[in-house]
Amino acid sequence: MINLLNRETIDKIAAGEVIERPDSVVKELLENSIDSGAKSISIEIREGGTGLIRVTDNGCGIEKEDIPKAFLRHATSKLSEASDLFRIHTMGFRGEALASISGVSEVEMITREQGSMFGYRYRISGGRELDLTEIGAPEGTTVIARNLFYNVPARKKFLKSKQTETSHITDMVEKEALSHPEISFRLTADGRNQLHTAGSGKLLDVIYTIYGREISENLIPVEHSREGITVRGYIGKPVIARAKRDFEVYFVNRRYVRSSIVEKAVEDAYHPFMMLHRFPFVLLNIETDPERVDVNVHPKKMEVRFSDNEGIYQAVYETVSNALMGRELITEVKPEPEKSEKPSMGISSLPVEKERKAEPFEEKKERYEQQSLLLKTAPLPSEIPSELPVLSDRAPETGYQKAPKGAEEKQPENPGKKFLDPASLPSFRMIGQLFETYWLIEFSDKLYIIDQHAAHEKVNYERMMAAFRKKQPESQMILPPIFLTLSAGEALLLQKNLQLFQDLGYEIDENGDRDFLVRAVPSNLYSIASKELLLEILDGLSEERGSNLPPDLLRDRIATMSCKAAVKGNNYLSREEMEALIQELLTLENPYACPHGRPTIISMSKYELDKKFKRIV
Ligand code: ADP
Ligand code: MG
Repeated sequence: MINLLNRETIDKIAAGEVIERPDSVVKELLENSIDSGAKSISIEIREGGTGLIRVTDNGCGIEKEDIPKAFLRHATSKLSEASDLFRIHTMGFRGEALASISGVSEVEMITREQGSMFGYRYRISGGRELDLTEIGAPEGTTVIARNLFYNVPARKKFLKSKQTETSHITDMVEKEALSHPEISFRLTADGRNQLHTAGSGKLLDVIYTIYGREISENLIPVEHSREGITVRGYIGKPVIARAKRDFEVYFVNRRYVRSSIVEKAVEDAYHPFMMLHRFPFVLLNIETDPERVDVNVHPKKMEVRFSDNEGIYQAVYETVSNALMGRELITEVKPEPEKSEKPSMGISSLPVEKERKAEPFEEKKERYEQQSLLLKTAPLPSEIPSELPVLSDRAPETGYQKAPKGAEEKQPENPGKKFLDPASLPSFRMIGQLFETYWLIEFSDKLYIIDQHAAHEKVNYERMMAAFRKKQPESQMILPPIFLTLSAGEALLLQKNLQLFQDLGYEIDENGDRDFLVRAVPSNLYSIASKELLLEILDGLSEERGSNLPPDLLRDRIATMSCKAAVKGNNYLSREEMEALIQELLTLENPYACPHGRPTIISMSKYELDKKFKRIV
């Protein structure tokens, strides 16, 4: 016998697809509120959302005749034909959220249309309409869903603990808040405040509220357009890298999504700056023609597909990479915080934002910097290391000649002149070496401290990788060759990756199962090449679970370890060698961190020193 399912059953089945857990209810209701034009949305949940979910907005409201319609399956005011499906700008569009939610809980909607005299209360439970009555209410809409899944015990069983469901909901509300800084969101769970954003329209305010000071102080704003794709947001400096990917947050046309192609582009761009197994903080919104995006692949609308993967990859990669390369990533050493000078949000280290007014203390700092620069005299010619050629024929510009503009427009800290610019080299003043490890350099209004080992390693590594890319590894024959007898595991690792070693300048012959002859090594290892050294490098590889890494990462590891060994082996650096090294460091694309991700350079400004010594208050 063939049965026709009744409406209740159909609703329950369909609801199961859209409504997996309490956070999907909250998400749908939130998105409806966002679509309604609300400026303020408050969410209350109890017992992880299973007891109660209440979402209140001050949006457009719903007129009386439309209220029951809103709960019909495929009822939507946002779409009228199939062709519209590809031109979606609003958040929700399937027209089934309210139907689904009311199929699996007891729903009450209180709504009053903007400008209307009357408000209404509508109740519907398990898909069955109860009543629609007139009621006094503020303009906007409140939807309450109680006893979620009360009629679907099977699904209720699959729910996690109340705390877990609460944290899913919190995560999700945070994502909505991040993609809608102009809306104020408030979330309470069992009476406790979980989140409250101001709705100021500034993304950085929302980031500060959610992620706190450390993160918001270490961000670089980005904006970049390429072939109809605009990428905007904030990316974290490598110092705030995390062990997990949770801090990579992506939106496409302001919708929170997962996208492996975006992830790949971001991580590839960060690769030279990151230690292994570390992930950046990144918050990006990608704007593109909705027709080029398919968000309809999953009912929860999370994993997104692009019609132009290549374009998306390029746009995202360029955005992140340009920002990381172009900016001085030198960590600044700051004096202990003093309460009086704390800006309300720690953004003093962020580059200029046109809209942002300088904090009062920043204006003071700026004035100070401008004054101190007027007093600064050019370095004496004798202080300029004569053997260092000017690497650019551009006259060293100070960038300070321009009269300061109004206080509204903040000047970059060091406009037009960066430490890590070969053109700056002639104005360096090498002070000397400290603790046989650090080199001190005065430049502009800052003291720069270079870690000799880290810098050496970095230069070595870049040289090696550049030679590799040119397919001309710098290799030196060693005579007699080094004879290696390896453990079975080591032998396997080496056999599998022989090509990678060769790419970098090693020449290794297999000589039976576990014996190898090393005939040549990368030239920076020439003076120290030994059996122990090679075993150490192999050891390092197996420790890194080397065999599981993709080849390019593995090649990187080999290069890194080789360079580390080379630096360890040649400990002493004369002043001349150091000067040459710094000079070479400055020509690199990414001089800021050694291949391990340790910084090569840190800085301390004259201003900070003056503060420390209380020359200024
Ligand atoms: P969809 O959002 O996909 O259109 P829903 O079932 O979520 O489908 O909502 C159905 C309709 O109800 C919406 O198209 C909208 O017209 C109306 N609606 C739902 N929630 C609200 C709200 N908070 N404010 C104003 N209108 C709403
Ligand atoms: Mg909806």
